[in-house]
Amino acid sequence: MTSIDFRKAQFLISAATVAQCPADHGNEVAFAGRSNAGKSSAINRLTGNSKLARTSKTPGRTRLLNFFTLSEQQRLVDLPGYGYAKVPEAMKIAWEKQLEAYLMHRRSLRGLVLLMDVRHPLQAFDRTFIEWGAASAMPMQIVLTKADKLKKGPAKNQLLAVRKELQGYGDLVSVQLFSALKGDGKDQLQGRLEQWLNYDEAADDDEDDILVAP
Ligand code: GDP
Repeated sequence: MTSIDFRKAQFLISAATVAQCPADHGNEVAFAGRSNAGKSSAINRLTGNSKLARTSKTPGRTRLLNFFTLSEQQRLVDLPGYGYAKVPEAMKIAWEKQLEAYLMHRRSLRGLVLLMDVRHPLQAFDRTFIEWGAASAMPMQIVLTKADKLKKGPAKNQLLAVRKELQGYGDLVSVQLFSALKGDGKDQLQGRLEQWLNYDEAADDDEDDILVAP
Protein backbone atom coordinates (compact mmCIF):
# COMPACT_ATOMS: atom_id res chain seq x y z
CA MET A 1 0.00 0.00 0.00
CA THR A 2 1.30 3.46 -0.87
CA SER A 3 2.30 5.30 2.27
CA ILE A 4 1.02 8.83 2.66
CA ASP A 5 3.04 11.81 3.79
CA PHE A 6 0.60 13.41 6.22
CA ARG A 7 2.93 16.36 6.67
CA LYS A 8 1.80 17.50 3.23
CA ALA A 9 -1.70 18.32 4.48
CA GLN A 10 -2.79 21.80 3.44
CA PHE A 11 -5.88 23.80 4.28
CA LEU A 12 -8.26 23.84 1.32
CA ILE A 13 -11.63 25.30 2.26
CA SER A 14 -14.11 25.75 5.08
CA ALA A 15 -17.73 24.90 4.35
CA ALA A 16 -20.76 26.05 6.34
CA THR A 17 -23.14 23.80 4.46
CA VAL A 18 -22.87 20.55 2.55
CA ALA A 19 -23.47 22.49 -0.68
CA GLN A 20 -20.18 24.37 -0.13
CA CYS A 21 -18.06 21.21 0.09
CA PRO A 22 -15.38 20.73 -2.59
CA ALA A 23 -16.03 18.40 -5.54
CA ASP A 24 -17.05 14.98 -4.30
CA HIS A 25 -14.38 12.75 -5.85
CA GLY A 26 -11.40 10.77 -4.60
CA ASN A 27 -11.13 9.67 -0.97
CA GLU A 28 -11.92 11.58 2.18
CA VAL A 29 -11.68 10.80 5.91
CA ALA A 30 -13.50 12.90 8.52
CA PHE A 31 -12.51 13.57 12.15
CA ALA A 32 -15.11 14.23 14.81
CA GLY A 33 -15.28 14.55 18.56
CA ARG A 34 -16.69 16.54 21.45
CA SER A 35 -14.88 19.79 22.03
CA ASN A 36 -11.83 19.18 24.24
CA ALA A 37 -11.65 15.51 23.21
CA GLY A 38 -8.17 16.15 21.81
CA LYS A 39 -9.04 16.33 18.12
CA SER A 40 -6.76 19.28 17.27
CA SER A 41 -3.86 17.72 19.17
CA ALA A 42 -4.37 14.42 17.34
CA ILE A 43 -4.46 16.13 13.93
CA ASN A 44 -1.35 18.10 14.87
CA ARG A 45 0.47 14.94 15.89
CA LEU A 46 -0.65 13.14 12.74
CA THR A 47 0.40 15.86 10.32
CA GLY A 48 3.29 17.30 12.31
CA ASN A 49 1.71 20.65 11.60
CA SER A 50 0.33 22.65 14.48
CA LYS A 51 -1.07 25.30 12.15
CA LEU A 52 -3.65 23.01 10.54
CA ALA A 53 -5.97 22.34 13.43
CA ARG A 54 -5.46 25.87 14.67
CA THR A 55 -6.81 26.91 11.28
CA SER A 56 -9.98 25.07 12.17
CA LYS A 57 -10.23 26.90 15.46
CA THR A 58 -9.83 30.35 13.87
CA PRO A 59 -13.09 32.26 14.44
CA GLY A 60 -15.10 32.22 11.23
CA ARG A 61 -13.59 28.94 10.21
CA THR A 62 -15.05 26.94 13.06
CA ARG A 63 -18.03 26.28 10.91
CA LEU A 64 -19.18 22.96 9.62
CA LEU A 65 -16.40 21.25 7.75
CA ASN A 66 -12.76 22.19 7.27
CA PHE A 67 -11.08 20.44 4.35
CA PHE A 68 -7.36 19.69 4.08
CA THR A 69 -5.75 18.18 1.00
CA LEU A 70 -3.03 15.52 1.07
CA SER A 71 -3.09 15.10 -2.69
CA GLU A 72 -5.55 15.96 -5.43
CA GLN A 73 -7.60 12.87 -4.61
CA GLN A 74 -7.06 12.60 -0.85
CA ARG A 75 -8.53 14.81 1.85
CA LEU A 76 -8.86 15.05 5.61
CA VAL A 77 -11.96 16.75 6.97
CA ASP A 78 -12.16 18.31 10.41
CA LEU A 79 -15.70 18.47 11.78
CA PRO A 80 -15.86 21.15 14.52
CA GLY A 81 -16.15 19.84 18.05
CA TYR A 82 -19.69 19.28 19.17
CA GLY A 83 -20.84 19.60 22.75
CA TYR A 84 -20.56 23.34 23.20
CA ALA A 85 -23.16 24.07 25.86
CA LYS A 86 -23.42 27.71 24.76
CA VAL A 87 -24.58 27.05 21.21
CA PRO A 88 -28.29 27.97 20.89
CA GLU A 89 -30.55 24.96 20.43
CA ALA A 90 -31.81 26.02 16.98
CA MET A 91 -28.23 26.34 15.73
CA LYS A 92 -27.33 22.97 17.17
CA ILE A 93 -30.22 21.33 15.34
CA ALA A 94 -29.34 23.04 12.05
CA TRP A 95 -25.71 21.99 12.43
CA GLU A 96 -26.63 18.39 13.23
CA LYS A 97 -28.83 18.33 10.12
CA GLN A 98 -25.91 19.43 7.92
CA LEU A 99 -23.58 16.96 9.58
CA GLU A 100 -26.02 14.14 9.09
CA ALA A 101 -26.50 15.12 5.43
CA TYR A 102 -22.73 15.11 4.93
CA LEU A 103 -22.37 11.67 6.55
CA MET A 104 -25.23 10.19 4.58
CA HIS A 105 -24.53 11.60 1.13
CA ARG A 106 -20.82 12.30 0.73
CA ARG A 107 -19.67 9.76 -1.86
CA SER A 108 -15.93 10.25 -1.33
CA LEU A 109 -16.19 9.68 2.44
CA ARG A 110 -14.37 6.42 3.21
CA GLY A 111 -14.16 6.46 6.97
CA LEU A 112 -14.76 8.34 10.20
CA VAL A 113 -12.35 8.95 13.02
CA LEU A 114 -14.21 9.60 16.26
CA LEU A 115 -12.07 10.96 19.08
CA MET A 116 -13.11 10.55 22.70
CA ASP A 117 -11.23 11.28 25.92
CA VAL A 118 -10.23 7.83 27.24
CA ARG A 119 -11.56 8.88 30.65
CA HIS A 120 -15.02 9.88 29.35
CA PRO A 121 -15.90 7.67 26.39
CA LEU A 122 -19.24 7.10 24.66
CA GLN A 123 -21.17 10.18 25.71
CA ALA A 124 -24.59 10.93 24.22
CA PHE A 125 -23.44 12.58 21.02
CA ASP A 126 -20.69 10.02 20.49
CA ARG A 127 -23.37 7.35 20.41
CA THR A 128 -25.55 9.37 18.02
CA PHE A 129 -22.56 9.87 15.77
CA ILE A 130 -21.76 6.15 15.74
CA GLU A 131 -25.41 5.44 14.90
CA TRP A 132 -25.24 7.83 11.94
CA GLY A 133 -22.02 6.22 10.74
CA ALA A 134 -23.48 2.75 11.07
CA ALA A 135 -26.65 3.82 9.23
CA SER A 136 -24.51 4.53 6.15
CA ALA A 137 -22.29 1.46 6.75
CA MET A 138 -19.34 3.82 7.21
CA PRO A 139 -16.19 2.28 8.74
CA MET A 140 -15.18 4.00 11.97
CA GLN A 141 -11.97 4.29 13.95
CA ILE A 142 -12.70 5.15 17.58
CA VAL A 143 -9.66 6.88 19.01
CA LEU A 144 -9.40 7.02 22.80
CA THR A 145 -7.27 10.11 23.34
CA LYS A 146 -5.05 11.27 26.20
CA ALA A 147 -4.12 7.65 26.97
CA ASP A 148 -1.08 9.01 28.84
CA LYS A 149 -3.46 10.37 31.50
CA LEU A 150 -4.14 6.81 32.66
CA LYS A 151 -1.73 4.10 33.76
CA LYS A 152 -1.24 1.24 31.27
CA GLY A 153 -3.64 -1.17 33.05
CA PRO A 154 -6.62 1.20 33.39
CA ALA A 155 -6.09 2.46 29.81
CA LYS A 156 -6.20 -1.12 28.52
CA ASN A 157 -9.34 -1.78 30.57
CA GLN A 158 -11.04 1.26 29.03
CA LEU A 159 -10.05 0.04 25.56
CA LEU A 160 -11.54 -3.38 26.23
CA ALA A 161 -14.70 -1.93 27.79
CA VAL A 162 -15.36 0.37 24.81
CA ARG A 163 -14.64 -2.47 22.37
CA LYS A 164 -17.08 -4.67 24.23
CA GLU A 165 -19.82 -2.04 24.16
CA LEU A 166 -19.40 -1.56 20.42
CA GLN A 167 -18.93 -5.20 19.45
CA GLY A 168 -22.43 -5.28 17.95
CA TYR A 169 -21.12 -3.15 15.06
CA GLY A 170 -18.68 -5.90 14.05
CA ASP A 171 -15.90 -4.98 11.62
CA LEU A 172 -17.39 -1.52 11.01
CA VAL A 173 -15.91 -0.19 14.24
CA SER A 174 -12.31 -0.44 15.50
CA VAL A 175 -11.15 1.03 18.80
CA GLN A 176 -7.63 2.16 19.69
CA LEU A 177 -5.71 4.11 22.31
CA PHE A 178 -3.90 7.31 21.37
CA SER A 179 -1.67 9.90 22.98
CA ALA A 180 -0.88 13.10 21.14
CA LEU A 181 1.59 13.87 23.91
CA LYS A 182 3.61 10.65 23.60
CA GLY A 183 2.78 9.62 20.03
CA ASP A 184 1.31 6.26 21.11
CA GLY A 185 -1.21 4.91 18.60
CA LYS A 186 -0.06 7.20 15.78
CA ASP A 187 1.15 4.37 13.53
CA GLN A 188 -2.07 2.44 14.06
CA LEU A 189 -4.18 5.47 13.16
CA GLN A 190 -2.03 6.29 10.13
CA GLY A 191 -2.34 2.70 8.91
CA ARG A 192 -6.12 2.89 9.05
CA LEU A 193 -6.16 6.28 7.27
CA GLU A 194 -3.89 4.96 4.52
CA GLN A 195 -6.19 2.02 4.00
CA TRP A 196 -9.14 4.39 3.51
CA LEU A 197 -7.35 7.12 1.56
CA ASN A 198 -5.77 4.67 -0.90
CA TYR A 199 -9.11 3.03 -1.65
CA ASP A 200 -9.38 2.32 -5.37
CA GLU A 201 -12.98 2.51 -6.58
CA ALA A 202 -12.10 1.22 -10.06
CA ALA A 203 -10.39 -1.88 -8.63
CA ASP A 204 -13.41 -2.47 -6.44
CA ASP A 205 -15.72 -2.23 -9.49
CA ASP A 206 -13.55 -4.77 -11.30
CA GLU A 207 -13.94 -7.17 -8.43
CA ASP A 208 -17.70 -6.75 -8.60
CA ASP A 209 -17.55 -7.51 -12.32
CA ILE A 210 -15.73 -10.74 -11.62
CA LEU A 211 -18.24 -11.66 -8.95
CA VAL A 212 -21.28 -11.12 -11.19
CA ALA A 213 -19.70 -12.74 -14.25
CA PRO A 214 -21.38 -16.02 -15.19
P1 GDP B 1 -10.19 19.63 20.76
O1 GDP B 1 -11.10 20.66 21.33
O2 GDP B 1 -10.87 18.31 20.63
O3 GDP B 1 -9.50 20.05 19.49
O4 GDP B 1 -9.06 19.36 21.88
P2 GDP B 1 -7.55 19.86 21.97
O5 GDP B 1 -6.68 19.12 21.04
O6 GDP B 1 -7.52 21.34 21.91
O7 GDP B 1 -7.17 19.32 23.44
C1 GDP B 1 -7.90 19.69 24.60
C2 GDP B 1 -6.96 19.67 25.81
O8 GDP B 1 -6.47 18.35 26.04
C3 GDP B 1 -5.72 20.54 25.60
O9 GDP B 1 -5.41 21.14 26.84
C4 GDP B 1 -4.66 19.54 25.19
O10 GDP B 1 -3.35 19.96 25.53
C5 GDP B 1 -5.06 18.31 25.97
N1 GDP B 1 -4.64 17.08 25.26
C6 GDP B 1 -4.96 16.71 24.00
N2 GDP B 1 -4.40 15.53 23.68
C7 GDP B 1 -3.69 15.14 24.76
C8 GDP B 1 -2.89 13.98 25.04
O11 GDP B 1 -2.68 13.07 24.25
N3 GDP B 1 -2.35 13.91 26.29
C9 GDP B 1 -2.54 14.88 27.24
N4 GDP B 1 -1.98 14.71 28.44
N5 GDP B 1 -3.28 15.98 26.99
C10 GDP B 1 -3.85 16.12 25.77
